[in-house]
Amino acid sequence: MKNLSTGLVIGGSIGGLLAARVLSDFYSKVLIVEKDAFPDGPEHRRGTPQAFHPHRITLRGKAIIDRFFPDYEQDLISFGAPSSLNKIIHQQNQYGTMVSPYPRNDIKFSRAVLEYVLRERVRKIENIHFLQQHDVLSLTASPENSRITGVLARDRETDLPPYIITADLVIDTSGRTSKLTEWLGKLGYTVPLPDKMTADIGYSTRRYKLPPGKEHLADKWDAVNVGGTPGKTFLGAFSFIENQVAETILYRPDGVCPPSDPVQFEKEIGKLPSPLISELISGLDPISPPKSFRVPHLFRQHFEQMENWPAGLLVLGDAYSNFDPIFGQGMTVAAMEAELLYKELEHNHTSETGYEQNLLKKFQHVIEAAWWLNCAADLRWHGVGYEGTQPLKGIDFGQTFMDLYLKYATEKQDWKLYGLYWAVNTLSVSPRTIFNPQMVRTVLSSSSHGQSVLAELENGKPLEEALRDILPDFSEEIFAAAKTNELEVPREN
Ligand SMILES: Cc1cc2nc3c(=O)[nH]c(=O)nc-3n(C[C@H](O)[C@H](O)[C@H](O)COP(=O)(O)OP(=O)(O)OC[C@H]3O[C@@H](n4cnc5c(N)ncnc54)[C@H](O)[C@@H]3O)c2cc1C
Repeated sequence: MKNLSTGLVIGGSIGGLLAARVLSDFYSKVLIVEKDAFPDGPEHRRGTPQAFHPHRITLRGKAIIDRFFPDYEQDLISFGAPSSLNKIIHQQNQYGTMVSPYPRNDIKFSRAVLEYVLRERVRKIENIHFLQQHDVLSLTASPENSRITGVLARDRETDLPPYIITADLVIDTSGRTSKLTEWLGKLGYTVPLPDKMTADIGYSTRRYKLPPGKEHLADKWDAVNVGGTPGKTFLGAFSFIENQVAETILYRPDGVCPPSDPVQFEKEIGKLPSPLISELISGLDPISPPKSFRVPHLFRQHFEQMENWPAGLLVLGDAYSNFDPIFGQGMTVAAMEAELLYKELEHNHTSETGYEQNLLKKFQHVIEAAWWLNCAADLRWHGVGYEGTQPLKGIDFGQTFMDLYLKYATEKQDWKLYGLYWAVNTLSVSPRTIFNPQMVRTVLSSSSHGQSVLAELENGKPLEEALRDILPDFSEEIFAAAKTNELEVPREN
């Protein structure tokens, strides 16, 4: 099967590890070039500053990772990562609270443990090699720049001049700080402007150890999410990672950054619409002061629209498009893209001219749903804006319907509908699953506001046609692979 020669992956984080795992089945040699030195254990490193903050994997992401790294959750467990099974989830939004035991055996972890576990699995694959402490500075290309032939890299440990590493395929997985646009520009390519959501997202995370006598909390609670009111309050969340450590976050996407001062942080936790998180952390031992993280904007690149795209180059993960972390979609999108790459290589499409750009188009089907859902959620907040080459389709209707849907499901305490809402938001099923004529009619008919929205929508058109016209054309193919019978249980960070 390994009829291709050398694959090179820029960046050894989650996207890079998944991409390398895929290439290892088809390329005789795979090289991961990473600017950091990897720690010997599940520790933090500079290249992934987001890693201190809670990282949750969706059902969809977990299934894909498990396919590439069978039983990887057992490795997480060996680092003390707990299961969510039968522990309480408490979800509070502006319409009420849903409380239930968590029905699945999902493992909760810190991002450092997940990355370490996957990296150790990759280390065991004999044709994958790591080149650490190497900064990729640019791409190298054939004389007419139509094919990428490798990268120019600098060894951070020596004063030696940068040198060229050749490869048949280069995949950029260097994250949201990727220089790909600049590198392509230097080779004479015109790169379209990305779509941007000018959300100024603020996170503040604090970790606590359970002291003796409080261990039972980790057996009882899975997660507590207290939703923010757009423009008014932070969103707060509480959950457990490995070794009886609890993490608490405050979040807001509109430029109001949650405090990193310990006293202020806990004061803001106390102002959340529910006292539950405050009560849970009282008496726990803080391990660190709160740490803040800011995401100044989100971007969605449109490399797939370029007039020319060089052969031998791909990009996936945060370097292509990134998302509001509160929805926990980033690693899942990278995993879904890695899965599409696998299919492309499996069907031997690499011999077809232009397969790289076609694949980038397919990645956009994954990105489309996540991006649209992010925009619908965050544009509710004052100060969050959108700058795109194309206007966003159906956002006003999407926001109204999602709100009314959430209200309907919460007020009726309907876990099936509530689970479906999260299955959409965590990319297990297509947004069409809830935006279908029957569901739209049921939800909108249930309130006077909804009835007027429905009347406007149906004005002279069958509902099905009206929905088709107003909403983006979400790809059904991307979601066909997901098990629609297993509903995602709600889980924000
Ligand atoms: C606060 C926060 C919380 C998040 N929470 C979640 C969550 O709950 N669930 C979820 O699914 N996602 C979450 N995400 C998103 C998630 O972190 C990313 O989507 C995920 O890590 C995949 O990113 P990536 O591998 O594409 O890039 P990154 O993780 O950013 O990794 C890029 C890698 O490339 C290396 N690199 C960069 N430039 C170079 C270069 N020039 N040469 C060599 N190496 C280079 C870096 O050192 C790094 O190792 C969160 C993000 C943030 C900011």
